[in-house]
Amino acid sequence: MNVEKNTIENNNATEYTNEWSIESAEKTYRVNRWGNGYFSVGEHGCINVTPRHDQPGLSINLQEVVDEIAATDIDFPVVIRFHDILRSQVERLNRTFRSTIEEADYEGRYFGVFPVKVNQMREVIEEIVSAGKRFDYGLEAGSKPELIAALAYNTNKNSLTILNGYKDEEYLKLALLGQKIHRNTIIVIEKYSELTKLISLSKSLGIKPVIGLRVKMMVKGRGKWESSSGERAKFGLSIAEILNAIDLLEQENLKDTIKLLHFHIGSQLTDIRAIKEAVQESSLIYTQLVKQGVPLEYVDVGGGLAVDYDGSQSTNDSSCNYDLTEYIADIIYGFKQSCDLESVQHPHIVSESGRAMTAHHSCVITKIVGEIQPSDKSYNTRKKTGEHIIVSNIREIENNLSSDNFQESFNDVSQLKEQAMQAFKLSVLTLEELAKIETLYWRILNTVEKVSQAEEFIPEELKEIPEMLSSQYLANFSVFQSAADSWAIDQVLPIVPIARLNEAPLKLCSLVDITCDSDGKIDKFIGDEEVSKLLPLHQLNDGEDYYIGLFLTGAYQDVMGDMHNLFGRLNEVHIVSYDDDPKDFYIEEVVKGSAVKNVLSTMQYTPEIMAQVVKKEIDKQIQRGKIKPREGVNWIDFYENCLDGYTYLK
Ligand SMILES: *Cc1c(COP(=O)(O)O)cnc(C)c1O
Repeated sequence: MNVEKNTIENNNATEYTNEWSIESAEKTYRVNRWGNGYFSVGEHGCINVTPRHDQPGLSINLQEVVDEIAATDIDFPVVIRFHDILRSQVERLNRTFRSTIEEADYEGRYFGVFPVKVNQMREVIEEIVSAGKRFDYGLEAGSKPELIAALAYNTNKNSLTILNGYKDEEYLKLALLGQKIHRNTIIVIEKYSELTKLISLSKSLGIKPVIGLRVKMMVKGRGKWESSSGERAKFGLSIAEILNAIDLLEQENLKDTIKLLHFHIGSQLTDIRAIKEAVQESSLIYTQLVKQGVPLEYVDVGGGLAVDYDGSQSTNDSSCNYDLTEYIADIIYGFKQSCDLESVQHPHIVSESGRAMTAHHSCVITKIVGEIQPSDKSYNTRKKTGEHIIVSNIREIENNLSSDNFQESFNDVSQLKEQAMQAFKLSVLTLEELAKIETLYWRILNTVEKVSQAEEFIPEELKEIPEMLSSQYLANFSVFQSAADSWAIDQVLPIVPIARLNEAPLKLCSLVDITCDSDGKIDKFIGDEEVSKLLPLHQLNDGEDYYIGLFLTGAYQDVMGDMHNLFGRLNEVHIVSYDDDPKDFYIEEVVKGSAVKNVLSTMQYTPEIMAQVVKKEIDKQIQRGKIKPREGVNWIDFYENCLDGYTYLK
């Protein structure tokens, strides 16, 4: 157990404060470890952003970004996008593939593609295409709308456009249109029936396709997406189907169109062993097929490159036990070895990393707007004649509590509290007595916690007290909109206050959002164990804004959010770093989030009519003399302004 955990669990304020330093902040929040070189804790106690690996001197203080946003009329919560991080990630992936290929004397090239589904925002796609241009980095689409976007945005004629997902005739026709306008579209057959459709369509249109075959791999990815591979996988062809497909294409004189072998064994592959096994399995299939005369040129290793969200470098679901360099080396050296052994040409390598490309570039910044504390309730507990025996008993426990009996006191008070609830249900206790019991109960728990922290050994059952006493910080955001995977699949996202990191965070908290859904909370954080239910945060100071950041939200979280409670999309601020600026950045663009009238419109409401209805009602009240005309006009304006306004708390 390290010092941080020990002291914070014991809630020993003085000791904690004395020892607190920037290093303690790093240990608690692991910013360097999940930050991938982009985020760190600065000397000033604020989060520092170093968006470009090639310019370590370029350093942005996140608090200054927030101050600048707050000084404009942009309301929080906001998504902040660092365009340079996106560029850096694309460069890093391509450069590492290139240098590994060179170092290994590998004969193929690297043609990466970005899978559009991971973040479909136009600005993100544009930035990725632009950063990837000199590496011939392309796009991957998994649906018709994504393909339609890819056709318009992947304008580099030397890069690939890889087409996955289930395909109908229209999808296939769009793919062939790509061929017509000289895009390197490769149609990956996921399902045998797509092949017959494609053959007849290409004949009737007179356009020859370029075909990839997705193989259902035996190896299983490890982690949350394990079922993306194996015999029961949703996508891909079995070996029997692959051989049949090749026969069919040969009969149709189209064998020469088979250029690519594809696999994808799942997202967020936490264990490098799964990747090694997949490379081994697929390279065997590749070499055998080539030896049978299939003119394969590319192997597409899919996505799955993981992001270390919790900074533990482990096989935790939100982490991974390898890095980019190791991942790429395993692919390149793996294929080289298999191919050399069989004297087969090294294939060009395609990969479809999405999560690892975009996760780091965006974060959500929100303000804590309140605190919900279970032990806040306090009521006058003075003795009253004729009071119920449970009340007297609990008061006695409080009076006698000492370091000799704190565990016993905890047990007794827990039991009495339960009895009190029963008694209340039987109408034996009054509301006033219940209020006294609650007050005494929480006071005793607080004291037990303080007394036990001085002890060397803390009994197991008392270890739940910090959680019982913990606060819930109310954050102005919606988990369903901004951190969908935290809710859906227990994903851990790094959450850190953006300032005051040079000050000890003395509160153990969980987070609740502003939706009226009890699932609208976050209680999984980076901790010493795999996940921690509580996050150390600072005391809220009167009149001072307290901002927290949810980091690594650029993959999936950015675009998967839903409309729960009609909160809708967040205001977005796009940051570009700039060396000549005193703060090293400028706000390049602001994309307004959802206005109330927008979210209502998507649910088929007509805001103009709604405003008219309310106006009519107000007019009626004016005519009846219940509202003064001037006041009525103000109310109408107010309603209309709210329709135009932001959905989140002001
Ligand atoms: C989702 C998906 C990807 C992206 O996976 P990441 O884990 O985000 O890298 C790549 N290829 C296919 C076929 C996918 O379905």
